[in-house]
Amino acid sequence: MVSSNSRLVDPLEFARNGRVLQGEAPVAGFARLCEGLPTPQDGKLDWRLAGRMDGQGGAWLDVQARGRVRVICQRCLQAMDLPLDVVNSLRLLRTQEELEAMDALEADGRGGVAEYLVAEDRMDGLDLVEDELILAVPYAPMHAACPGGRPDADDGSDPGRPSPFAALERLKKH
Ligand SMILES: [Zn+2]
Repeated sequence: MVSSNSRLVDPLEFARNGRVLQGEAPVAGFARLCEGLPTPQDGKLDWRLAGRMDGQGGAWLDVQARGRVRVICQRCLQAMDLPLDVVNSLRLLRTQEELEAMDALEADGRGGVAEYLVAEDRMDGLDLVEDELILAVPYAPMHAACPGGRPDADDGSDPGRPSPFAALERLKKH
């Protein structure tokens, strides 16, 4: 069990000390994630936050979450369970100025490809997990093959569900 108190982390301290926080949370508890999703959401998500430092003194927060959410297939409009498996690493920055400096480097083509997070003294760990989950849900989820689907929809050689990450990856920089 994770008490509501232990959700609050100081990300920089978290990274410096290599701390890990993990737990299981009901999907329905993620209010922002559930906006626009069908009800009920009776699934659960396993989540994990891990802090670490890199060799150059950079502080990082690794965010992971895995589970299923219920979505509406945008092809047949039936509810379906969408598996989510999120892994992301956020480079922690201390100030907004630092973020702007990183953005300037990136605009110059000299920056890294990391996503940045300006760390506050106290952040809600589950909020950070939720941010990643929201980005992982595709805008228009669809069955790989709709049950009783349209005759023209499938020829049996379905390449599988498209990755929800590919398109989002470009949008979600800090
Ligand atoms: Zn469908």
